[in-house]
Amino acid sequence: MTGFAKRTIRDVDPSGKKVLVRVDFNVPLADGSVADDTRIRAALPTITYLLEHRAAIALCSHLGRPKGPDPKQSLRPVARRLGELLARDLPLLPDAVGPAVRDVVGKLRPGEVVLLENVRFHPEEEKNDAAFAKELARGYDLYVNDAFGAAHRAHASTEGVAKLLPAYAGLLLEKELLALGGLVTDPQRPFLAIIGGAKVSTKIDVLRALLARVDALAIGGGMANTFLLATGCKIGRSLAEPDRAGEAAAILDDAKAQGKRVLLPDDVLCAPSVDDAGARLATVKGVGDVPDDQAIVDVGPRTIDRYADEIRRAKTIFWNGPLGVFEIPAFATGTKRVAELLAASGAVTVVGGGESVQAVEELGLADKMTHVSTGGGASLELIEGKTLPGVAAIPDR
Ligand code: ADP
Ligand code: MG
Repeated sequence: MTGFAKRTIRDVDPSGKKVLVRVDFNVPLADGSVADDTRIRAALPTITYLLEHRAAIALCSHLGRPKGPDPKQSLRPVARRLGELLARDLPLLPDAVGPAVRDVVGKLRPGEVVLLENVRFHPEEEKNDAAFAKELARGYDLYVNDAFGAAHRAHASTEGVAKLLPAYAGLLLEKELLALGGLVTDPQRPFLAIIGGAKVSTKIDVLRALLARVDALAIGGGMANTFLLATGCKIGRSLAEPDRAGEAAAILDDAKAQGKRVLLPDDVLCAPSVDDAGARLATVKGVGDVPDDQAIVDVGPRTIDRYADEIRRAKTIFWNGPLGVFEIPAFATGTKRVAELLAASGAVTVVGGGESVQAVEELGLADKMTHVSTGGGASLELIEGKTLPGVAAIPDR
């Protein structure tokens, strides 16, 4: 694994300093509480490190996409959950900026922590407005970015402020960059990528970037349907993007030219409808035999066996995107088997993405993986080789 180029919180003595810490607490809520606290727990190492080193910290995050202040998108449930995890009272301040907030932060003592209210209550945040970034930075000595999930956005709290204060990477940001960066720079071979999920269109760039780096690419999920179309299969009423079949065909051609193997499903689970009623009538078909009035909802058993052989052979595996409509248990077999095979594998296993990570968490297999990324879009952009503005803004050591 290559060394880490960016300055991290280990490169500074934060004791007695006021530290603005950008975290990614953009978590799912249900009935006014946190439905999945993975991202909150992922930020704990940085928070505890700073508190133990006697910093006074203000945590800053966005939640959802509010258009101005909106009590439904308040970080209050997050403050409650984080308070439980830290076993201390965690005050939520009424805003991310302004004199009242500055007053509280100014009086914070070493080892104390507060949470700022949803920074996206200010539209200037997403515009990376210079004056707003200045407001955010006021009253702090240091800035720490631990929000990997937001690092692909050039916003005031991820990028603008990093130019106004001495900026450092948090421990989660470092961990993500090392794990995902390792895939890009020096993966152990054979390197297998398993890519599923809904649509080809959202992942064309990542497919192309991966193709250049992997030894084999196994495709599943809704996006496999567009590839099947490209190879001339009929796919009935399956989710697909016929207008992207040309791009899928080009990827298959490029793979051939580069001597890379692309694996597509050869059998699939088909159902008359993508719901519980359909689940009762689902049958396995060869990819040439998908009925006109049915939809592909998962990969079939023969396909899983072929992908399993690849998984067993690989030394590095990157997985993004469920292999079927895993939200419906009867259509979750492919996704579940892939998660189990990765968990049992001795390879370096990295999982990135929204729903694929959710599947791994729900199966209780997250701690069996080498790395489970907290950043959906950010992890894909990193693998595409794009510069993440939130990372670029942190100086090298
Ligand atoms: P990720 O967030 O892991 O990157 P995506 O957002 O690309 O994954 O896609 C996830 C969605 O893909 C899931 O909600 C799942 O239901 C859907 N999906 C997977 N396979 C199929 C399929 N065969 N037909 C329709 N939707 C599918
Ligand atoms: Mg998703």
